[in-house]
Amino acid sequence: MNLILLGAPGAGKGTQAEVICEHLHIPAVSTGNMIREALKNGTEMGLRAKSFMEEGKLVPDEVVIGIIKERLQQDDCKNGFILDGFPRTIPQAEALDNMGIVIDKVIDIEVPDEKIVERMSGRRVCEACGASYHLLYKKPEKEGVCKCGGTLVQRKDDHPDTVKERLKVYHEQTEPLKAYYEKQGKLSIVTGQEDVADTSRLTLEALKA
Ligand code: ADP
Ligand code: ZN
Repeated sequence: MNLILLGAPGAGKGTQAEVICEHLHIPAVSTGNMIREALKNGTEMGLRAKSFMEEGKLVPDEVVIGIIKERLQQDDCKNGFILDGFPRTIPQAEALDNMGIVIDKVIDIEVPDEKIVERMSGRRVCEACGASYHLLYKKPEKEGVCKCGGTLVQRKDDHPDTVKERLKVYHEQTEPLKAYYEKQGKLSIVTGQEDVADTSRLTLEALKA
């Protein structure tokens, strides 16, 4: 099954991608994590992406399309995958179509903007493995420490001003994808809940529908 998770930054796409990954045993592919990894490793692509990312803007289409194309050709994607954070623009969705990739379902996780700003301020990520936590909603077992032992930090782009810019970019460039996939009859909407477990239940139900 080839799936796409849509939703505003901080809507919980990453968390739901992990839930589906465990359930269907297909890999979660996050362009955000891949770009952050490239940045950490100082690759050319990482360096190109850095300023866009830190300002809350989208990395140019040709850059992300290139990394996704390479990633989806790997062996573990043969039986399906969950795209988290891609596509984020209409040209990116068209690029997927042009690669001959058939998407089975698109799950859109809806969370109001005010909630997003509140949530993002509490988000923490693991420096080592990229896992995501929240000070209120998804606490690590040990404060400030990931289950892998890595240190939890706040992403630069999770600071409030950058979050506002990311939301603006989301509404302008990513939200039109809802209509794009609705037209293809592939869109399911999940309303993000206060409790992560409730959102996960709704996501798994949407998969079955
Ligand atoms: P979130 O979903 O919380 O915004 P991500 O980790 O998915 O965070 O993305 C972080 C940043 O990485 C984005 O703000 C953007 O700069 C860049 N990025 C990730 N995926 C894409 C994409 N498909 N197209 C363009 N930029 C992307
Ligand atoms: Zn970790």
